[in-house]
Amino acid sequence: MERIESAITSAIRHRPLNALITETFDLARHQAKEAIKRGQKPFPLVVKDCYALKGVRATCASKMLKDYVPPYTATSVQRLIDSGGCVIGKGNMDEYSMGTSSALGHFGPVKNGLSNLEKLDDDWVVAGGSSGGPAVSVQMGIADCSIGSDTGGSVRNPAAFTGVFGFKPTYGTISRYGLIPLVNSLDAPSIFAQSAEECWRFFEIAAGRDANDSTSIDPKTSLLSKKLSDLVIGIPKEYHNESLTDEAWQLWNRAANILTRLGAKVRTVSLPLTKYSLICYHVASGGDIASNMARYDSVAYGHRSSNNQSTFELYSSSRTESLNSVVKKRIHFGNYFLMKKHRKEYFERALKVRRLIAEEMWKAFKEVDLLLTPTACGVAPLFSQLHGENFARESDDDFYTQPVNMAGVPAVSIPLGTSPSSNLPLSVQLIGDRLQDRLVLEVAEQLY
Ligand code: GLN
Repeated sequence: MERIESAITSAIRHRPLNALITETFDLARHQAKEAIKRGQKPFPLVVKDCYALKGVRATCASKMLKDYVPPYTATSVQRLIDSGGCVIGKGNMDEYSMGTSSALGHFGPVKNGLSNLEKLDDDWVVAGGSSGGPAVSVQMGIADCSIGSDTGGSVRNPAAFTGVFGFKPTYGTISRYGLIPLVNSLDAPSIFAQSAEECWRFFEIAAGRDANDSTSIDPKTSLLSKKLSDLVIGIPKEYHNESLTDEAWQLWNRAANILTRLGAKVRTVSLPLTKYSLICYHVASGGDIASNMARYDSVAYGHRSSNNQSTFELYSSSRTESLNSVVKKRIHFGNYFLMKKHRKEYFERALKVRRLIAEEMWKAFKEVDLLLTPTACGVAPLFSQLHGENFARESDDDFYTQPVNMAGVPAVSIPLGTSPSSNLPLSVQLIGDRLQDRLVLEVAEQLY
C-alpha cells in the first residue's frame, strides 16, 4: 500500500510533466486493497491511453476519442491487474501512436523528467514517443511497470530518451485484444521498467495465448539460458549511418567491449536492406492506418461535429475538427497507396520488401545469437530543436528501431550511459531471434 501511495504522491508532484491524461488514484487504491486481500504485493501500473480499461476513458490523445469510455479491459492490462497491478493513470502519448516525440497530442506535450523544471513552459527535453507518458511514469517513480505499444519503436525510443528499460517482445506474445490498433501486424504491447529483470517479471505476467487475439502465442518462458561465453553477438554495420552522433557511437562501442570482456564473441554483420525499412514501413503501414482510421466516422462514438447538413459533411467535419495534422497526413497517403491505380506499385511492393527485410534479419540469427545496435541517434532533443527541424529528427531515430518490428523479433533498449556534454541518457539496443525474449533480457541484465 505504501508503494501505491508514494506513486500517487509522485504523480501529483510531477503533474507539470503531463505524463498522465487521466488519473485513476481511487481505482489504484481500490485495486491495492483487493490485491492485498488476495495475498499479493500491489505495484503501481500506468497504461498507455490506447488500451481499454473498463469504465475509464481511452482517448489515444485525440480529440476524436476524448470522451470514449470502453466497456471492457484489454487482456494485457487485466492480467497485470490480476497479479497486483494498480492503475495510477492512463499515459499520455502521440495522437493514435503516430510519432516519436509525444509532443502534439490533444492533451498537450509530455515533458521529460530531465528537463529544466524551472523553465518548463519555455522549452523542455522531449520525452520520446509515441509512449512518452508511460516512459516518464517509470522514470519518475509514478509506476514500477507501464505498458506501452511499439509498432516502429514507440516503447524503445522513449525508454532511451528517459533512461529506463523498454522491452518490445516477440510479436504476438502479449495479446493485442483491447489495444486500439495502429498497424495490426506490427503492433506489440511492450513493457517499461527500471531493470531488465523487472521487464521479464512483468512480461511473464502479461504474456501468453488469448482466445480474443488469434495472432497471440505462448512465449517459451522455460528456455534454458545460455552462458555469455557461448554467445555470438553481431554488430550490423549499416546501423553506423550518417545520423549517428559520436556519443551514441562511443556508447555502442563500449557495450561491445563489455560483452567481449564478459566472454562473448562479437563480430560485424551486414544487413543491407536496413536502409529501405523506414520508407517501406511508411508505405505498408499507410494501408493499415487508412483502414483502421476509417471507423472514426463520429456516428457510433467519437467527436461529432455540429455541421451535419449531410452525412458526408458530418463525417468530414467531425474528422477535420478532431484529428491532428500527422494523423490526417497518414490517412491521406495511406489511401493514396491503396487506390486501385497505385496499389500494385506501392502497397503490394512494400509488403514484398517488408518480407525481404524480415527474412534478412531472421537469416542473421542463423549466424549470431543477438544483434547489438544503438536505440536512437543520440540523446533526446529539446522541443525547440525538434520543431525547428520540422520533426525530421524523428525518422532519424526510427531508423534504428523500426526493422525489429518488420521481423517481429524481441528487442530491449538498455540505458547504459549518459552524454558527457548534456548529461542526458544514452542507450543501446539488444535484438534477438523470434521467441528469444528471455535471452535478450538476460544478456541485457548482465550488460547493464
Ligand atoms: N515513430 C513511428 C511512427 O510514427 C513508430 C510509432 C510506433 O511505434 N507506434 O509511426
